[in-house]
Amino acid sequence: MPPASADVLILGAGLAGLRAALSCLESSPGLRVLVASATGAPSGSSFANQNDALGMHVCLSDAEREAYVREVLALNLDARLSPELLALQAQEGEARLQDLIALGLNFTRDATGNLLGHSSCFSPHSRRAFVFTGLASAYACFRGRLESQGCLFAPGWLAASIAADQGKASGAFLVPRDGGAPLFVAAKAVIVALGGPGRLFAHSMAGPGTPGYSHGLLADAGAAMANQGFLQFMWASAPGRTFWQPAALGTGGYRLILPDGRERAVEDLLAYSPDMAHSADETRMQYPNSLQELCSSRAGHCPFAYGLEDSALDLALASGLDDSGIVRLIQPDGAPLHLAPMAHASNGGAVIDEHGQTSVPGLLACGECATGMHGANRIGGSMVLAAQVFGHRAGLRAARIARDSDGPGASGAIQDELLGGFAEDAPKQEEGLNWLATGLSRYAVLGGTAGFASFAMEVRHRLQEARDWRLQLSLETGLGITSSLPAARP
Ligand SMILES: Cc1cc2nc3c(=O)[nH]c(=O)nc-3n(C[C@H](O)[C@H](O)[C@H](O)COP(=O)(O)OP(=O)(O)OC[C@H]3O[C@@H](n4cnc5c(N)ncnc54)[C@H](O)[C@@H]3O)c2cc1C
Repeated sequence: MPPASADVLILGAGLAGLRAALSCLESSPGLRVLVASATGAPSGSSFANQNDALGMHVCLSDAEREAYVREVLALNLDARLSPELLALQAQEGEARLQDLIALGLNFTRDATGNLLGHSSCFSPHSRRAFVFTGLASAYACFRGRLESQGCLFAPGWLAASIAADQGKASGAFLVPRDGGAPLFVAAKAVIVALGGPGRLFAHSMAGPGTPGYSHGLLADAGAAMANQGFLQFMWASAPGRTFWQPAALGTGGYRLILPDGRERAVEDLLAYSPDMAHSADETRMQYPNSLQELCSSRAGHCPFAYGLEDSALDLALASGLDDSGIVRLIQPDGAPLHLAPMAHASNGGAVIDEHGQTSVPGLLACGECATGMHGANRIGGSMVLAAQVFGHRAGLRAARIARDSDGPGASGAIQDELLGGFAEDAPKQEEGLNWLATGLSRYAVLGGTAGFASFAMEVRHRLQEARDWRLQLSLETGLGITSSLPAARP
């Protein structure tokens, strides 16, 4: 059973949450720091993703830092991005990389023992990504260090709501993952590090153990949000989730089966927007790039690129999306290939300042549920970087808030009254989450496909009707995504 109060309450035990906990305790030994998470096992995209490896983008010289910032800004002309957060991220990556090495994470090295720098998505010519393998061991490294520092853990609890007292975060309501009575934990500062919304999608590559409603939870707490429509999508086989690179279309000879059953050569569809694909043959615009040019550019990044010309390849494929969010191709050798754009990591979340502070005093966020350092397109390895840089900073700031505050947090009596508010309705929750998952994978992918506007309206309507707390937060997350999809912009 978690304690009724803590100095700092951290929600989520991924790379961001555990980094924050460590920095909090190292800066203020003796603070009561509690990490609550859905499970005590390695979880989320940090410690349980299917690659069992992660790259961290780190600049090791001023020239690299300048190049990184320049590249990120050039990739993100149409998103909310803070140059200050971006510069901090470039500046502090090396120190955070050294922390991870000291913690014992297994970074790949060359024969002489030097760290190996790899290329990254959207920056194919740089060698600034450093990769560690063995995610469960990485989790054990963090856990071991935190336990030795006296960190408290509450595994098996779902964060259900952030509490506020006089406009300031004062704790959180937790609900046992396997059912049971909710609980209020009072805290002087709360850090939300619950990962992104990928698991809300029917087709997702995000790691397990994350219900995916972190954005809804933050929005519900009143935090200003941005960039939620900018999720990463990668094509992979469905089922199976084997990564597939759209640049493969450059060989020619791929045929797409449209939802109405007709077959089209992919090259013939490149001129169509998703809307036009459904009305078929009437207009054919000439696309300015050859298939080979598009494929050569597309080969430089695994996720779909918002606003780049090579997105034409992904959008052509998306014109074949069926109602279950799957695209059926026939390969040049005649073999069928079923693919889905898999929700990966999100670039959106709560808008934070340089200390990880959201717009709600005492409420901090880091990792995949915070934004400002990312925009539409993220250079590979930048999420691990952000989780370390801003997890560290959020931990330091939460420790300072806790040290400077004397009260125990919100009054128990007020919160007891609120505990009754966590209505559950298992059948409606299941039906609603399934509906949302299918709809997100059908309409809220790749910036928004044909039909997303009516889907968004239905999300809003269902949110008004929903009574189950988890369904509400999930629909609120869905609404954040659909209402900020690039296609939804005026
Ligand atoms: C296959 C794959 C490969 C990737 N590769 C890279 C890469 O090479 N480089 C890179 O920078 N990024 C990569 N990413 C993205 C990156 O891994 C994640 O964005 C990052 O690890 C997120 O860290 P996090 O701590 O914010 O969230 P997570 O690691 O997802 O952790 C979230 C934590 O919160 C808990 N939790 C969630 N919801 C609740 C709840 N409601 N109540 C209680 N607990 C909850 C979970 O159990 C978990 O402990 C990859 C992602 C995937 C899926």
